[in-house]
Amino acid sequence: MIDTHMHADARSGEDFEKMFLAGIDTAITCSYYPYKIPDEIILRNHLNRILELDTSRAKEHGLDLKVALGIHPTNSNINPEMIFEELYKWIESKQIVAIGEIGLEDLTDSEIEIFKRQLDIADETRSKVIIHTPRKNKKEVLKVILDILPQHLSENQAVIDHINTSVVNEVIDRECMLGLTVQPQKMDKFEAISILDEYGFDKFLLNSDISNKPSDPLSVPKTVRELEKQGYQDNEIKRVASLNAEKFFNL
Ligand SMILES: [Zn+2]
Repeated sequence: MIDTHMHADARSGEDFEKMFLAGIDTAITCSYYPYKIPDEIILRNHLNRILELDTSRAKEHGLDLKVALGIHPTNSNINPEMIFEELYKWIESKQIVAIGEIGLEDLTDSEIEIFKRQLDIADETRSKVIIHTPRKNKKEVLKVILDILPQHLSENQAVIDHINTSVVNEVIDRECMLGLTVQPQKMDKFEAISILDEYGFDKFLLNSDISNKPSDPLSVPKTVRELEKQGYQDNEIKRVASLNAEKFFNL
């Protein structure tokens, strides 16, 4: 199984061990700095720590941790140029599997500017992007994302994440992959399964988004087991449990 979106820097080795024992072989950890950022040097150091330290911490517990780096919309209050330069290096050296998570939260000018630049970098370097959608005003912010995205990057290079029943209709006909985040206070496994049941398994990726907020490191295996219990076909379950992610991120 692959957990396609998590935040390893906020989690313990015990979580990685639980995930590995529950059948998660690979996870993708994404950028997010949970505190107020005084400047871009702090963010760069944080991102380098994810790359160097969290990958080896996960490996100690058997988990193959892949990395997505970029500027999270809530971290947009910095001069981004230094991070953009680093992004080119990380992509060139194949240290990251995607630029992410990026996206929009409060629709500020700097968020929008940084989002567009990161989409342009992805287009230029043929990279994949993981796009965050917020808890609040999800529909409104998603509309802006869907307006900006195709002007900068081919939709099939993007996964739009944290999709739920309230917005799935807005994105299902786009060419993007769609992330289903099964997380306490966000979406439970039954809501995720209702989406898969209605729209099929081809466009979706599963993730836990474990972070410093209420989280369940086992939400992906619990959802996969529930699908098995409910009698969905093995080849369908496999797509959403790992194959779609392997194909999309070239894992
Ligand atoms: Zn996240």
